[in-house]
Amino acid sequence: MAIQYEQNSNTENPSFNVLVIGAGLAGLATAISIQQAGHQVTVLERMPEIREIGAGIQVSPNGTRLLRDWGILEAVQSHAFQPQKTFLRSYRGGPPLAAQRMDMPSIEHDTAPYVLLHRADLHRVLRERAESLGAKITLNAVIESMHIDTAKPSVRLQDGRVFEADVILGADGERSICRDKLLGREDFPKNTNNLVYRFTVPASEVRQHKDLIELVDPPNVNLWMGPRSHVVSYVVKKDGLLNVALMLPQEPQDKTEYGVQPAAIEELREVFTHWDEKFGALLNMAQQSAKWTLLHADGLEKWTHEKGRFALIGDSAHAMMPCLAQGASQCFEDAAVLGTLFGAIQRPEQLDDVLSLYERLRKPRAMEVRRRSSQAMGELSMPDGPEQEGRDNELSSSTPCEVFPVSLMDPSFQNWLWGYNASEEAMNVWKEHSREVVA
Ligand SMILES: Cc1cc2nc3c(=O)[nH]c(=O)nc-3n(C[C@H](O)[C@H](O)[C@H](O)COP(=O)(O)OP(=O)(O)OC[C@H]3O[C@@H](n4cnc5c(N)ncnc54)[C@H](O)[C@@H]3O)c2cc1C
Repeated sequence: MAIQYEQNSNTENPSFNVLVIGAGLAGLATAISIQQAGHQVTVLERMPEIREIGAGIQVSPNGTRLLRDWGILEAVQSHAFQPQKTFLRSYRGGPPLAAQRMDMPSIEHDTAPYVLLHRADLHRVLRERAESLGAKITLNAVIESMHIDTAKPSVRLQDGRVFEADVILGADGERSICRDKLLGREDFPKNTNNLVYRFTVPASEVRQHKDLIELVDPPNVNLWMGPRSHVVSYVVKKDGLLNVALMLPQEPQDKTEYGVQPAAIEELREVFTHWDEKFGALLNMAQQSAKWTLLHADGLEKWTHEKGRFALIGDSAHAMMPCLAQGASQCFEDAAVLGTLFGAIQRPEQLDDVLSLYERLRKPRAMEVRRRSSQAMGELSMPDGPEQEGRDNELSSSTPCEVFPVSLMDPSFQNWLWGYNASEEAMNVWKEHSREVVA
């Protein structure tokens, strides 16, 4: 059920100024949800222009359910594909070991579908919606200092402008100065000693090879599991672009640094020489690649400031391994919880409860998704040996069930992950809290 936000047309309801730092997926989604709840949001983005790097992104039903509530699911779908299956393949080649349905009947896939799209398209739809609702986005906003230990937190930019707000939300990604500020120390995320490479190939080129057509038509997800590495591919862009992401260990001699950087395809050809020839053919078509180190934020002791006017959202709070494709959907859950709680406020003093309820609801779930994402990394990248053989035998001989060797395919886990309605959960927490206060 879609939560109806109470617009602040009722002038009795208080209206707050919310400052969001970072115009990534978390910042823009939160701008939409809080603006829709009747408050004024300003987003500060340090880049001179908004541009989303990367290529493909998967958004699962726990995320698209919220896009629907924000009135942008249709716009997102106009750029997206809806896969029916994820095929799990061995790096050794041969037919898929298993196929996971992506449209499980227990989840309302008709109104909250699993979608695949280009990040730039998702980002643009979010930005346009945030701005059409009245959110103000300030670019080139390079922060000089932040004051968060107060009831009226503020930010000073290098150009001298000062932004004061009722609440500041740090949405500045995995390398977050907001996190440093909240913790009172530098908290550079840990290197997981894994690299991601990403390249794209036009689908029209893939279709020219008869054996490869199944990788683009119909637009499903293909996942190759290899020793200490795995590869995911799916089509994005309506005119057809196959997005391929590879995760592999960073060897001690590798000097890749933090941030996205260009990479030569030859680096991949060397590592993946003995892989499935279908994947080898894709590598041969690739012209250029990008790579980056996979970072992992430690579990934080807190997400919100004790004075209740500063909190972290998105990757700054819960950067996770990409193996369950949950980063964006978890950002959307943060945004929906905040939007619902802001929408429920009727008296100014209730603002003090919003961020603590946000943390109470979001932190345990996001930390569990983060833990399961790291676990999935291990399941998908088993070294050669008896354990890997056992996994592959089980995958090819049994139907997905609880305690399946690839948890992504465990239906009860999928229900927990994809069946979640963050807005409804937030409303329940608010009602429970209101009853406690009255009692
Ligand atoms: C290989 C890979 C594949 C992935 N695939 C998926 C997937 O399929 N599905 C999925 O859901 N997730 C996926 N993710 C994760 C997902 O991309 C992230 O979780 C998500 O983008 C995080 O959004 P964010 O807004 O928190 O941070 P970011 O996207 O990093 O945005 C942060 C924003 O803040 C700005 N900023 C930074 N510092 C400052 C500052 N000091 N002042 C002002 N602005 C600042 C940045 O410029 C940026 O615009 C993947 C991640 C990886 C690495």
